[in-house]
Parts: sequence; structure tokens; C-alpha cells
Amino acid sequence: MRGESMAGQLIKEWTAIQQFPSATQEKLLELLGQLKNKNVNTLTILVMGKGGVGKSSTVNSVIGERAVTVSAFQSETPRPVMVSRSRAGFTLNIIDTPGLVEGGYVSDQVLETIKRFLLNRTVDVLLYVDRLDAYRVDNLDKQVVKAITDSFGKEIWHKTMVVLTHAQLSPPDALSYEEFFSKRSESLLKCIRQGAGIGRKDIQKYAISVALVENSGRCTKNENDEKVLPSGTAWIPSLVNTITDVALNGKPGILVDKKLIEGPNANDRGKIYIPLILAFQYFFVIKPIQKWIKQDIIRESSPAWD
Ligand code: GDP
Ligand code: MG
Repeated sequence: MRGESMAGQLIKEWTAIQQFPSATQEKLLELLGQLKNKNVNTLTILVMGKGGVGKSSTVNSVIGERAVTVSAFQSETPRPVMVSRSRAGFTLNIIDTPGLVEGGYVSDQVLETIKRFLLNRTVDVLLYVDRLDAYRVDNLDKQVVKAITDSFGKEIWHKTMVVLTHAQLSPPDALSYEEFFSKRSESLLKCIRQGAGIGRKDIQKYAISVALVENSGRCTKNENDEKVLPSGTAWIPSLVNTITDVALNGKPGILVDKKLIEGPNANDRGKIYIPLILAFQYFFVIKPIQKWIKQDIIRESSPAWD
């Protein structure tokens, strides 16, 4: 069965859900049921991050099929791609995007394409993807966060969860897995708060969940054939569970309308010149006219016999 979205594009039935082990299928259907119970029939998930961190792989893992292109080398997804799948009256939209960094800088052009792609859509959840096996955050990460904040507003962080790929790793320096995970997620969250301008007192208000993902085909599986993290947690249902939590956290989704895309001050941009123009008019137009009139009056009032 095929449905049709408002934009007129075909929405495929989410048949790949049957590719998951039955334990995963059950959990996923239960989560979709939870959303439907709260009258949420559509979920639009935006996936963003730097290039090569595993965004596209994560999209494919969640859908359960090779829906978007994965590449080990740069030249990836040149523009955003939306994958839509529906199941029992529920529609899942996942938007995969190109990496936000090009040549060592945040690409404004990529951000523009993403914004334009999103026009008139509402983002219910943002997956901010990075790798677990990265040992530092740098200024570029902060710039990426800042660029997202500038584009979609600080409120986007209410609807964000962090996704860390390459979760199946052996931590360095004799750290336990938990220690490594908490150090990595804390430093990334701190970077996000700094880049997004979330102050100390707003940390709770903008509590951001972190989920682990292992997209590799070599990911360990449990007795039910589900892909598991080193902790033993089946990560696909766990990820979708957190997505559901963020979707239902009571904060509104981010509507990407013209006003948001053009920037809050787009229409006001020229307005800073208004006082200047008025001053110019006063000194160079009104004043001289007043002067001429005054001179005229003086001339007029001069006695004719003078
Ligand atoms: P994107 O540029 O962010 O979309 O990243 P891709 O999904 O295209 O992945 C880039 C490369 O990393 C590909 O070679 C993937 O196979 C690999 N990759 C992605 N996620 C994981 C993961 O969780 N574990 C491992 N081992 N490799 C991954
Ligand atoms: Mg990609």
C-alpha cells in the first residue's frame, strides 16, 4: 500500500521493519503505538552533523534498509534526502543531510540547502550525530553548534538528542567503557551548551539525551539476534525510545517557515538606515529649504524704499 504526503510524494509502506529481529519489531511497534496514543501520527526527524560521522548509516539502521547512500570517503550526500515510511497509520520521515563542515569550516551553503529543503516542515526531533571514538571536541564543533543555533533558533536544542556512532570500541588509557562514554558525552554536551549559548542555570531546561549507535555489520548481537551495545542494550529500540521521549517532551517542534529561514531580522535589515536617512533629509533638505524661506521672508519684509 502506498500513501501520499502533502507534498505529493509517495510514502512507502515501512516493510523493512520486518527485517528486524522480532524482539526489535515488537519494541518498535510498541513505541509507535505510544506515539499514536498521544495523537502523534507523523514524526519528522532531522539528522545533522559533520561529514563521515555516520549520519546516513544511522538513517539506514533505523529504517532497516539501505535507503540512503553511505560512503567511507567525502563526496557524500550533496543535498538533503527525506526517507518516508508508513506503518499502521504512522509515518516516519527521516531527513539525511550533507555534512556541515567543508574544508575546515562550517559550510553556510550546506546550511542554506538544508534550511530551504525544510521550508514549511516541522522538525520533531534533531539527531545531532558524532562519533563516540573521538577524543576531543574543538572550536569547529562549537562553530557547528552555533551555526545550527543561528539557523533554527536556540529552541532546536529542546528537540535534540545526541547520537554517538562507533559505539563498539575498547576505551583507551585503561578507562572503563562507562567512564569513557561519560567523559566523551560530557565534553560534547559542554561544547553544545557553549555553542548554543545555554547558560549554567538552563542546563536542566535544555537536558539533552545521548544515545549510542553501532552501525557496523560486525556489531555484537544478543540471543534474540538484536544488535547490542557493550552494555548489552539492544540499541535500535533504545534509540527509537529516546526519539519518542524527545518527541513527547512537551516542547513544540521547530517549524521551519520563511521567517526562520530568512532570519528574524531579514525584513528589518534596512531599518538601521532609517535614522540616518531622516538625519540626512533634515540637514540637507529641510534645513536648506527653511533657510531659503527665511531669506525670502527677510527679503519680502524689507521695505520697498530701502
Ligand atoms: P555520514 O557522512 O555522516 O553520512 O557518514 P556515513 O554514514 O556515510 O558513514 C561514513 C563511514 O563510517 C562509512 O564507511 C560507514 O560504514 C562508517 N560507519 C558509520 N557508522 C559507523 C559505526 O557506527 N561503526 C562503524 N564501525 N563504522 C561506521
Ligand atoms: Mg551521509
